[in-house]
Amino acid sequence: MTQRAYNFAAGPAVLPESVLAQIQREIMVLPGPKASILEISHRSPTFKEIIEAAEANIRKLLKISDDYAVLFLQGGGRLLFSMIPMNLATKEKPSADYIVTGTWGKAALKEAKKEGLARVAWDGADSKYTHTPADSDLDLDPNAAYLHYTCNETIEGVQFPSEPQGGEVPLVCDASSDFMHKPIPIDRYGMIYACAQKNLGPAGVSIVVIHKDLLARSSDDLGAYLNFKLHADENSLMNTAPTFAIYVVRLVTDWLVNDIGGLDKMYAINKAKAKMLYDVIDASGGFYDGHAKPECRSLMNVSFRLPSEELTKEFLQQGEAQDLTALAGHRSVGGCRASIYNAMPVAGVEALRDFMIAFRDKHAG
Ligand SMILES: *Cc1c(COP(=O)(O)O)cnc(C)c1O
Repeated sequence: MTQRAYNFAAGPAVLPESVLAQIQREIMVLPGPKASILEISHRSPTFKEIIEAAEANIRKLLKISDDYAVLFLQGGGRLLFSMIPMNLATKEKPSADYIVTGTWGKAALKEAKKEGLARVAWDGADSKYTHTPADSDLDLDPNAAYLHYTCNETIEGVQFPSEPQGGEVPLVCDASSDFMHKPIPIDRYGMIYACAQKNLGPAGVSIVVIHKDLLARSSDDLGAYLNFKLHADENSLMNTAPTFAIYVVRLVTDWLVNDIGGLDKMYAINKAKAKMLYDVIDASGGFYDGHAKPECRSLMNVSFRLPSEELTKEFLQQGEAQDLTALAGHRSVGGCRASIYNAMPVAGVEALRDFMIAFRDKHAG
C-alpha cells in the first residue's frame, strides 16, 4: 500500500487511522444485516442503532441536555447559512445580527441578506480579519432574532477564545471547523452547527444542535427539507439520511469518547499541537509571518506567510516531497495553512515543526 502522508488539508480532512481501519474491516458486511453500511435502509434497525449512537456520543461529549435537539442534515454549512434566517427570523423579530471575522462569516451574512434583514454587529475587514472583537466592540440590536458568529474562521485561522456576549439574544454559531475540539458551555448557545468534513467525518452531513424553544419559530410555510422543526420531529429521518457519513461520524465520536477520553483531553492535545507550530513562527525572526493576532490564533488552522512567492512555492514543494501535504493557503488569501484538526496525529505536527525549522534555517537571510 502507498504510504499515507500527513495530510494538512482544510476539509475534507484527516480522519483517525483507527476509524479508517474499522471502515475497511466493516465495509463489506455488518454483522446484523449481513450487508454493507452502503446497502442498508436508513430505516433499518442497524442504521437506527448507528444514528442513535452518534447522537448519544455527541450529547455525552458536549454535555447536551434534553432542552436541545441534535439534527443530522445535508447541504453542508452553506445550506445552513440560508436555513438559519429562514427558520429563526420571525415577524416580531425580522432582523438578525452577524459578527464577521472572516470569509465564512461574510458568506453567512450574504445568504442571510437574501432571506431577510441582517445587520453587521462587527466586521473585521479593516484589519484584514486578523482578530476577533471584544464584547465592548459589538454593535448589538437587543431585538435581533439571533446573533450569528463563526467561532473559527477556517481560512484566516482566527478563533474566538470564548463565546461573545450577546445579551438575551440567542447565540447562533458556525463551528464547522472546530466543532468538538474542546468542551464548551452549551447552555450559552441557541444553536451551534458544523459540517462534518473538517473535524468530525466525511463530507455529506452537518450536525445541528438547537435549543428546542427555537424550533417553535419554524414556519409551516417553509419547504419541508428547509424546516428545522420537521427534522427534529422526524429524528433527522424525514428523507433518506446520508447513512455512510453518519456511520463515520459515529465512529469518529466513538474514537473521541474511547480512545481520546473526552473533550478535556482532546483540548489539551490540540493546545499542545498548535503551540508547537506557533512557537516556530514566533521564533523565526519574522521569516514565518502568522496571520492571526496571538490572542485569537486558531488551534485548528495555522495560517502563515513566507517572505516571498518563490519561497512559498519551494516550501510547499519540499513539504510535499516529505509527505507533508495540502499546506497551501486558501486560494483567496495565498500563503500557507496547516490544518491540524483533532485527528491530526502529534507526530504529524512534530514532522511539520521540524521541517519548518530546517527550511527557515536554510533560507533565512
Ligand atoms: C467549510 C466551512 C463551511 C462550508 O461548508 P460546506 O459544507 O462546504 O458548505 C462553513 N463554515 C465554515 C467555518 C467552514 O469552515
